[in-house]
Amino acid sequence: MAKPDLMERVVNLCKRRGFVFPSSEIYGGFRSTWDYGPFGVLLKRNVKEAWWRSMVQLRDDIVGLDAAILMHPRVWEASGHVQAFTDPLVDCRDCKERFRADHLPESGACPNCGAKGSFTEARQFNLMFKTHVGPVEDEGAVAYLRPESAQGIFVNFLNVQTTARKKPPFGIAQIGKAFRNEITPGNFIFRTREFEVMEMEYFVSPEDGPRWYEYWCQERLRWFVELGIPEDRLRLRPHDPDELSHYSTGTSDVEFAYPWGWGELEGVANRTDYDLRRHSEYSGQDLSYYDQEADRRYVPHVIEPALGADRCMLAFLLAAYHEEEVRGEKRTLLRLDPRLAPIAVAVLPLSRNERLNPVAHEVADLLRPRFMIDVDDAGSIGRRYRRQDEVGTPLCVTVDFDTLDDRAVTVRDRDSMSQDRVPIDKLVQHLEELLSA
Ligand code: ATP
Repeated sequence: MAKPDLMERVVNLCKRRGFVFPSSEIYGGFRSTWDYGPFGVLLKRNVKEAWWRSMVQLRDDIVGLDAAILMHPRVWEASGHVQAFTDPLVDCRDCKERFRADHLPESGACPNCGAKGSFTEARQFNLMFKTHVGPVEDEGAVAYLRPESAQGIFVNFLNVQTTARKKPPFGIAQIGKAFRNEITPGNFIFRTREFEVMEMEYFVSPEDGPRWYEYWCQERLRWFVELGIPEDRLRLRPHDPDELSHYSTGTSDVEFAYPWGWGELEGVANRTDYDLRRHSEYSGQDLSYYDQEADRRYVPHVIEPALGADRCMLAFLLAAYHEEEVRGEKRTLLRLDPRLAPIAVAVLPLSRNERLNPVAHEVADLLRPRFMIDVDDAGSIGRRYRRQDEVGTPLCVTVDFDTLDDRAVTVRDRDSMSQDRVPIDKLVQHLEELLSA
């Protein structure tokens, strides 16, 4: 499939099947924000759950946090965001469109109107959304919508470290909304002004920083592969020295082969002791750690893997999208890992029939507490299989007239389309085995 076509097809599928809608669509849309429909919200929840499970549940060295979006404005002075969270902005003098100077094509032509040499000098534009807290809109009431969740973790370092009784190396993980006034949002949910981040700050002793940085680069790559992104569509790209943030001794992007080329999926950064040191200076609180065994005090260094949930969902969708021909007809399917698929099991009565209905309901009631299910009895069975394939449902359970006699159902696999007959009283166990295989 031609690559630009893939993007168009995924975006169409998302709209048509209720994954993602343009925000405020009945008012003509609101550029760069998107709403997640019934299937989209399930997929995104599963993406976040898979991340949380791998970071928090399956490890004993990482704990979770849910900090507020609105924080003390000094936080953003200490972090450097007020002064330096900027992108270079240029205007096209001809068509008046605005662009990020570091994202312009090499030809130097305006991406909107094609004019050459029409750009203004770049000026720095701060990406933080400013708002006011309380009824008086003066300078003293300024607050920011957080552009990342990491600072909520740093300012809680002592709270968490002491209450969870953790010693470096240990991490704090957080998932939540972030806001950036991006100059050029675009590519669907790849770059938006409101998005969700999944960030983990891993606190280590200064000399352990480089080792843990390497570890997290590999670990994050592994996570995507384990959840079904082919290895050849992922790569690790270390930042050039001139790209590095001034405080970072190493940053790598996990890149994905998007239809428009390689681009950032996740960033892994060695942030050194910059954040805790700055918050110590600005707050006057000592955020160092006393290592009893070694009898020494140090400011922990931080390794940060930071991933957007929306961008990550897009990568999973692009990697999962397949079209194939089956008996002369096109079949579209999302080969999503069962842990990510919005619906785990669809229950399909062979036809709308009053004899089949009670047993179809019985099967649905049996499965509902254990799996996210969908019940669909409208249209031919072949078309209903296709509808489930298209949203990535790994398994369909069909209740037919034989079920009334043999108390067994047909279990159909999305990828191979193979079918098995399974007794209802063994169904839950059978499905659990297939879904965790
Ligand atoms: P860029 O240079 O492309 O603007 P960045 O390097 O500033 O991005 P980070 O600060 O490293 O991005 O953000 C961490 C992760 O959060 C990114 O890898 C991406 O997955 C996600 N992310 C960042 N900005 C956005 C956005 N505007 N929309 C959606 N996801 C985003």
